[in-house]
Amino acid sequence: MPPAPFTSALAERLASDVVDRLVRYARVDTQSRRDRETCPSTPGQRDLADLLAAELRDLGLEDVSVDEHAYVTATLRGTRPDAPVIGLLAHLDVSPDAPGAGVEPIVHREYDGAPLALPRGGTVLDPQRMPELRSRVGHDLVTSSGDTLLGADDKAGMAEVMAAVALLATDPQLPRPTLRVGFTPDEEIGEGATLFDVEGFGATCAYTLDGSEPGEVQDETFSAAEVTVTVRGVDVHPGFATGKLVNAARLAGRILAQLPPDLAPETTSGREGFIHPYEFSGTAGTATIRAIVRDFDDERLADHVAVLRRVAEEVVATEPRAVLEVAVREQYPNMRRFLDERPEVTAAAEEAIRREGLEPHRVPIRGGTDGSRLSEMGLPTPNLFTGGHEYHSVREWASVQEMAAAAAVVVRLAGVWAERWDGAAPRPS
Ligand SMILES: [Zn+2]
Repeated sequence: MPPAPFTSALAERLASDVVDRLVRYARVDTQSRRDRETCPSTPGQRDLADLLAAELRDLGLEDVSVDEHAYVTATLRGTRPDAPVIGLLAHLDVSPDAPGAGVEPIVHREYDGAPLALPRGGTVLDPQRMPELRSRVGHDLVTSSGDTLLGADDKAGMAEVMAAVALLATDPQLPRPTLRVGFTPDEEIGEGATLFDVEGFGATCAYTLDGSEPGEVQDETFSAAEVTVTVRGVDVHPGFATGKLVNAARLAGRILAQLPPDLAPETTSGREGFIHPYEFSGTAGTATIRAIVRDFDDERLADHVAVLRRVAEEVVATEPRAVLEVAVREQYPNMRRFLDERPEVTAAAEEAIRREGLEPHRVPIRGGTDGSRLSEMGLPTPNLFTGGHEYHSVREWASVQEMAAAAAVVVRLAGVWAERWDGAAPRPS
């Protein structure tokens, strides 16, 4: 089996730098922590922020800064100074859902299609169970050592932004608008955009590199709400409870049992939304259900929230001494409506992907990204592919050929935006 080809000479030129960077960044423990009290939620994110800032300075970028919350920003002056300023974003943190400390990446050259046994944790990447892997025979792959996640989400994206910027900074033949680079903390706990200074960033639009499959452009995310249902009962010693005890845990259990089974993440796909109770705590006195509610359509999202509320009310109404509280918190909106107002933003990404020889495809994300809230905050931000797969698990892997293609797309995207301003820029081969 011959090695998998690169998508272009440009991608091949970027490949080794992208891999070196992914390996270097992956070794820094930047796992974020839920219910944070500080930003960043964990100190390792600041360590990586400082490392990236030093590298950006070495590349000659201007205005390199790490703010008090570990947001990294920098400017690469454009070859077309009057073109609009474009942002390139990736997130510093990795998921709290699998071990994230002590990552030791392994590069496997020319994957042969057999099950890939990693040295630790008994982890096997089995192509029989991983159809995406099955189609990457001949690719160079990066994995963890098996007992941690790799952190390609989103260090592949970060490596691609850095490698593209490094090339653009040293090759004056490559046209570009002024680029603003940004690396954000705590994306995995939904807080990446919270303290992002959109005005200070000063870009007209931005792109996150935080997707997966080559060619993907994500311009649509869920709209998201979190619902906390609290039931208060009457707690009495069970020996004296006859006719007095009102058990909150039992009532909450009935609420869970009565939620529609066809409105769950495990029974829906594509553009269908869901109600997902993900945490329960309860005593006879008080019980709390935390649920996330998702849909691509805002009205249907409100309907799902209403279903959860109605079920809770009906159950608790059977016991007049119990008290119910339902708190709804909006988390992020579907970014589609903001991107539809600026169609040139997604169109530029599709053009860059085409120039890299790939077919662009728009995919709705069954989740959110920093771009969901950034788009709402006035910075339209679609999401681009990175070539990383099996995120948030110890089986996470990334294809070197696909990461190189993603970095090349960033270089071409700069070219697309620069060209729009003068119509006559040379294209890299
Ligand atoms: Zn991510």
